[in-house]
Amino acid sequence: MSKIDSENMSVKEIGCCGAYCKTCKPFNTGTCKGCKIGYDTGERDLNKARCKIKVCCIGKGYDSCADCPEIENCSVINEFYGKNGYKYGKYRQAIEFIRENGYEEFLKIANNWTNAYGKYK
Ligand code: SF4
Ligand code: SF4
Repeated sequence: MSKIDSENMSVKEIGCCGAYCKTCKPFNTGTCKGCKIGYDTGERDLNKARCKIKVCCIGKGYDSCADCPEIENCSVINEFYGKNGYKYGKYRQAIEFIRENGYEEFLKIANNWTNAYGKYK
C-alpha cells in the first residue's frame, strides 16, 4: 500500500466529530464498526445511522465536520461538543486542529494515541 493510500485510509478512520476510530478501543476490539467505514461501499446504510452528525457530514460528502463551512453555527455539532464529559472537548480539539493544520498533520500525532483522543505537542 502506498503512503497516499494509507493516509486516505486513516482519514476514513477519523470520525466526523473528531473522534479517532483508528486508535479507539471498541473499534480495535471489534465492538464498533467505526464512524464512516462501510458507507461508501454499501456495506452500511446511512439511512439507518442514528448519529445526526455523521448523517449530515457523510451526506454532504465531507471527511469530517472540519471541512464544513457552517461548523461555527451548527447546533448539532456544538450541542455535542457542549455535552458533559472530557471526550467531547477532545473531539472538538481534534476538529479545530484539523481545520488549522490539515488531516496529514493530525494523523502524524493521532496515530500514536491509544484512545479515540489524545495529546498534542
Ligand atoms: S459520535 Fe457520531 S460523528 Fe462522532 S464518531 Fe460517533 S458516529 Fe461518528
Ligand atoms: S452542518 Fe454540522 S453536523 Fe453537518 S457537517 Fe457541518 S458541522 Fe458537521
